[in-house]
Amino acid sequence: MLLPVTTEITIGGITYEEFLKFVEQKICHYCGDNIPWPLPHGGRDALGNYRSGHHLDRKDNAKGYSVRNCVVACACCNRTKGNMLSYEEMLVIGKMRRDKRENARAETTCAV
Ligand SMILES: [Zn+2]
Repeated sequence: MLLPVTTEITIGGITYEEFLKFVEQKICHYCGDNIPWPLPHGGRDALGNYRSGHHLDRKDNAKGYSVRNCVVACACCNRTKGNMLSYEEMLVIGKMRRDKRENARAETTCAV
């Protein structure tokens, strides 16, 4: 039996169509890591690593989910920011994660 497809679903204040626009973004707003959108919430990737499913982070946790208040974030940045860091602080940490990852790639490439 097929269930009817509805676009009436919302995530907080985000409509299904707005959520699909977020899904088009394939990298983390903070650190630039890849976002594995196809996995369901609580799913595991091919390596067995836990992957969160919705990948939306509220810039201001005191406010609800809305297009203006949400960014696409990897599970690591989402957990790191939590309720302890501000959006601006997470931008700094995300850049540090990105730089560290790029430096590791450069060292690997130069070592050959
Ligand atoms: Zn990230």
